[in-house]
Amino acid sequence: MADHSSGSARIPLDPASLDRAAGVLLAAAVGDALGVPYEFAPPFAGDPEMKGGGLGPYAPGEYSDDTQMAACVAEVAATGADLTQPWALDAIADRFIAWIRDGASDVGNSTRAVLRGAEPGPGSAARLAASAIWEFASTGLGAGNGALMRTGIVGLCALGDRVQTARAARAVSELTHADPLAADSCILWSEAIRVAVIEGRFDLLGGLDLIEEHRQSQWRAWIDQATGADPASFGPNGFTVTALQAAWAAITSTLGSSRMIAADHLTSALFAAVHAENDTDTVAAIAGALLGARWGASAVPTRYRSQVHGWPGLGDSDLVRLAVLTARGGADERGSSAT
Ligand SMILES: [Mg+2]
Repeated sequence: MADHSSGSARIPLDPASLDRAAGVLLAAAVGDALGVPYEFAPPFAGDPEMKGGGLGPYAPGEYSDDTQMAACVAEVAATGADLTQPWALDAIADRFIAWIRDGASDVGNSTRAVLRGAEPGPGSAARLAASAIWEFASTGLGAGNGALMRTGIVGLCALGDRVQTARAARAVSELTHADPLAADSCILWSEAIRVAVIEGRFDLLGGLDLIEEHRQSQWRAWIDQATGADPASFGPNGFTVTALQAAWAAITSTLGSSRMIAADHLTSALFAAVHAENDTDTVAAIAGALLGARWGASAVPTRYRSQVHGWPGLGDSDLVRLAVLTARGGADERGSSAT
């Protein structure tokens, strides 16, 4: 088989970095499943629980469209594919189309408009992207949070190369969302995930130079506004900018003291994301991807790992495996290829 991987973007990972990579999809799925029961529901008191229901309706512990679509991206990323290549984007597009025909339990507006009636096969990615441009031009739909909600795994596809990470984030975002703000949000979040995995720190402003210069100061203002703020102050959060702000606010407003242990912050930030109300599962899935990248799979409480699951038949260990394979460029621990 030809080598389609982006080999220069791969870097060796120490055990701590590998744990952080392993946490990206898992913690996103946990956030998603925690938010499912409360999506567009009235405010509630106390800690959220993975009790299912929501728009699916979902089983207890089941994640929703956010992680379902992330799984479509992950299945391709886990082969070590260069996600900027047309064949890899076609493979993702084909999975999105299979998902909306077969597995989608609820779907966002922009995503539905673009995927409805789409045909798989060679050129499917270009057709989806063209459809997204048409949808944006004719209806204004194009900056929903549906691209940001699935971008976490993209942050793992080129851990040694921030420019390649940004290119992949843009390409995967543009399959369904044509407003440049959607791609910007995906670039910023994917780069933050890459940095969290490699360096073990939170930095959302660090990727500003990767987006177009004339939008950088606006994004800096949006991120500054959200840092340490109440996540509920960014409603409605179906817009990719307010969804990013709510997720970042949930993370930064719960950071607390340096004595706070990883699992405590991961959990309290996910709870804060769900309490942002409105699109609860999506905000918590977005936050979860970055929290997992920072604190690792080891910080995800066992009670959540044992319950989380969803289409296409994935559980916690599958979510970890897909993320680790992506971070390793498609090779398992023995160095053999996943495909
Ligand atoms: Mg959802």
